[in-house]
Amino acid sequence: MIAVIMGPPGSGKGTQADLLFKKYGYLKVSTGDAIRKQIKLKSSVGNLAQDIVAKGGLVPDDIIFQMVRIDLEASKGKMVILDGFPRNIAQAEMLESLNREHPVTGCIHLMVDHNVLIERLSGRRLCPICNATFHIHLAAPKLAGICDKCGSGLIQRDDDTEASIRVRLEIYNESSAPIIEFYKSRGIYFAVSGEGDQSDIFDEISAIVEEMTG
Ligand code: AMP
Repeated sequence: MIAVIMGPPGSGKGTQADLLFKKYGYLKVSTGDAIRKQIKLKSSVGNLAQDIVAKGGLVPDDIIFQMVRIDLEASKGKMVILDGFPRNIAQAEMLESLNREHPVTGCIHLMVDHNVLIERLSGRRLCPICNATFHIHLAAPKLAGICDKCGSGLIQRDDDTEASIRVRLEIYNESSAPIIEFYKSRGIYFAVSGEGDQSDIFDEISAIVEEMTG
């Protein structure tokens, strides 16, 4: 069973997908995480994607397809939550053609106001070692710049700069409408407000997921 979580950058998709793993065992397949891993490894795919990602653009579909195909193959038979994929109609169609026997059961759309996204993204800080996420104002670490969980120095994502954030939001605004229509036409689109308390948002998502699984 495959569900999709979509939303603009900074909407909290990754966090909610992690919570779905903890509560229901959904495996998170995140194309953003997969690309960042390749960039860190300096693989040929990573080297090709590095500049595109830093500037906030989209990585070519063929590279993304290859990564998603491998991840879905590895998780066959398990419940999967796709985070950051599909990001355009070609990707949505590719996903459908890959999974004729186990089609997507739902698309959960996290909706967040533009100004809230800018504030979240520009203050976001990450731990490069344990992947914990902080925010300089909204979820500040106890010691500025230091991870509460493992003591490593926090970093800012290359694409969380003002210029990249603008590009990412523009691309999202252009590409999300057709994806919404795509899943609406299949009767499996669910919109959720991504603003407010994380656990309240998760309660709403949990109710949708439980409805999806019957
Ligand atoms: P994310 O962590 O989902 O915000 O993704 C970070 C970056 O990875 C995006 O801004 C894109 O450059 C790239 N990326 C992630 N998923 C995709 C995708 N499905 N298609 C194209 N590029 C992607």
